[in-house]
Amino acid sequence: VKSPAEIASDVRLFAKYHLVRRVHDHPAREGELGVQLLGYEPVGYCDALTRRPKPVSVRGGFEVEVIDRRQYCGHQLPVHLVRTARANATRTLLVLAGVHGNEQAGLLAVPAIMDAVGRDDLAPNVELRIVTPVNTVGAAVGSRYNADGYDINRDFQRFDTAEARVVRAAFDEQRPDMILSLHEGPQAGTFLFANRRVHEDVATRLLTRIASAGVELADEDYFGRHLDTPGYAPMTPSMWRLSMLWAKTLGMMATGVWADRLGVPEITLESSWRSRDADARIAAHVALVLGALDELS
Ligand SMILES: [Zn+2]
Repeated sequence: VKSPAEIASDVRLFAKYHLVRRVHDHPAREGELGVQLLGYEPVGYCDALTRRPKPVSVRGGFEVEVIDRRQYCGHQLPVHLVRTARANATRTLLVLAGVHGNEQAGLLAVPAIMDAVGRDDLAPNVELRIVTPVNTVGAAVGSRYNADGYDINRDFQRFDTAEARVVRAAFDEQRPDMILSLHEGPQAGTFLFANRRVHEDVATRLLTRIASAGVELADEDYFGRHLDTPGYAPMTPSMWRLSMLWAKTLGMMATGVWADRLGVPEITLESSWRSRDADARIAAHVALVLGALDELS
């Protein structure tokens, strides 16, 4: 049982990380929630994406395109679109990596995803499109926020930020059949938020796949709510009402609700940023994307 002081501290942290635009002091690193950074570095990351040998077994291989650049401290930091460019694809999977720049496992999973898809010619009828890093400035400095202190994952109603508009443009260019957003959080273990368009059996199969990769599934989400099925946090009616209230009063909306309103299933994966096991953190994101490719093919 938590003491009143602990509950007050949780509420304060919740407000700080979820409800406040922090244009005054960011992008700064956040230490108080125990984030273990995994060594993301923009130049090396760009190399890892663009120097990947074209996987011969994938028709057309991968195309890596710079779709935006964000300026920060004299640097032009790229946002990439990595895509399989399959002429015969009938389905599309859109993956968002690094919406929060200090949640690095999803970013570092992208080269491994490219390797796996190429090596085994996975889901040849599915076009895989990955926007990475969505928050390129935050990724470079290890911050949740963009250069102006905005949390990108609160901006899918107003689209005030260039980063959210880049995601919207990627959505509009080729409407996806599913969206995955790769995040991390302070909870122990890994769980996923599924919007109302995600069937429970799909979420369950994806969680089985993630667990098979050696990933520990969480019993609680990062709000401390018990998860009846480990790792599975579906959008409940009360969460939906809270999201609508949040949108109306604060003008804030996350990708899951935005996608829901557009009729598209969206999963937000949350591995544990407290874990020092980088491989397990990255493996969760790789397993989710490969599982979703299977679901769509
Ligand atoms: Zn996040």
